Amino acid sequence: DYYIKAPMKRKESTAIDKNDIILGKRLGTGGFGTVFKGELKEEKGGRTPIIIKKAKEFGEAEVWMNERMSRVPGSHCAEFVTAFDESLNVPLPEGAGGRAAGAPAAPTWSGGVLDSGAIWLVWYYEGDSTLMSLMEKRDFPYNLEPLLFGRELRAPRGPVRELVTIKEAMRQLLTAVAACHANGIVHRDIKPANCIVSTRDKKLKLIDLGAAADLRIGINYVPNEYLLDPRYAPPQQYIMSTQTPRPPPKPVAAFLSPVLWAMERPDRFDMYSCGVTMVQMIFAHLRNDNNLIAFNKRLQELRWDLSSWRKEEEAKLASGATKAALADSLAAGFEALDADGGAGWDLLTKLMSYKPSDRPSAAEALAHPWLTSAPGRAADMQR
Ligand code: ADP
Ligand code: MG
Repeated sequence: DYYIKAPMKRKESTAIDKNDIILGKRLGTGGFGTVFKGELKEEKGGRTPIIIKKAKEFGEAEVWMNERMSRVPGSHCAEFVTAFDESLNVPLPEGAGGRAAGAPAAPTWSGGVLDSGAIWLVWYYEGDSTLMSLMEKRDFPYNLEPLLFGRELRAPRGPVRELVTIKEAMRQLLTAVAACHANGIVHRDIKPANCIVSTRDKKLKLIDLGAAADLRIGINYVPNEYLLDPRYAPPQQYIMSTQTPRPPPKPVAAFLSPVLWAMERPDRFDMYSCGVTMVQMIFAHLRNDNNLIAFNKRLQELRWDLSSWRKEEEAKLASGATKAALADSLAAGFEALDADGGAGWDLLTKLMSYKPSDRPSAAEALAHPWLTSAPGRAADMQR
């Protein structure tokens, strides 16, 4: 395997700083900072491919979320290496990443000096493909097969084989999301561009925890300050209703949060985004940004009633008013969702429900017949 897993010993014994990192190509600038490819110089002279994010704002919160998730077994997020303050060029002390909303900087960290410099976050490089970059290619979902199954499936190309891969991608996404939720973390930016399809582990993992909220201690729980991606955000936009008071300081919040969690179902925010991700995997035309925006706009006009949208599209299809490529995508998508007694349609409409309480949790979605009943697993494609 090309990708060498760096020994964990190094991470614990010698702290990594700026001098150990060779910055490479800039991959992009997002809402939370600039991302680079790079290399980590190893003690024995080797070099490990890494990803570096120089965070503008909220870097501390992203460090916190990554530290939290890196302790959860099963590698559900890209593997986090370390983080340090650029201006000081020293690693962040363990646990300094997080800060409760409105609370002063962690006293362990030289009196708020942290605010001055950019924070560098470092992950192991997990490969070139996100679910989005794969969906943008014509041979989706076939281009996912080697990444998820380690090989191409043997069945003839067609809807049955495509569904096997799409279901597996959904299963892996929901597994990662369930792991976040089980640890009190709501991601808030679930979308295909934030799903890395790891070549190191041959699985889908979450990235970009910059907008995530830790509800157990109130970190990053400042919903109104965030610009959420409107293409994937649920109708409510915010995790909790505006009536919900801001969380009190740490000790009280730790006590209260489970109650708020049960009352308001903040995890269902991510579930809507999982639904939009599913809709894009199912309908080829919705992988196009303009089409997705138009779909969302129409859905809003229909008060987020997916069945009304379907009726409308089917009426247009029947009257021959739909352009050929679009008609193909719609017909194939509805057919895929109607297979297995309509299990796909049932799950999708539940995930994209207007009311958060009508959406399944990630664990419930994983147990849905669409994802548990055969056929639908790679093993079914062997013969
Ligand atoms: P942004 O805030 O800019 O959206 P992300 O954390 O989503 O930052 O990273 C931006 C891009 O960098 C991703 O879409 C992906 O292409 C790439 N990337 C991020 N983390 C990794 C990783 N661990 N391995 C490989 N590529 C990554
Ligand atoms: Mg991103």
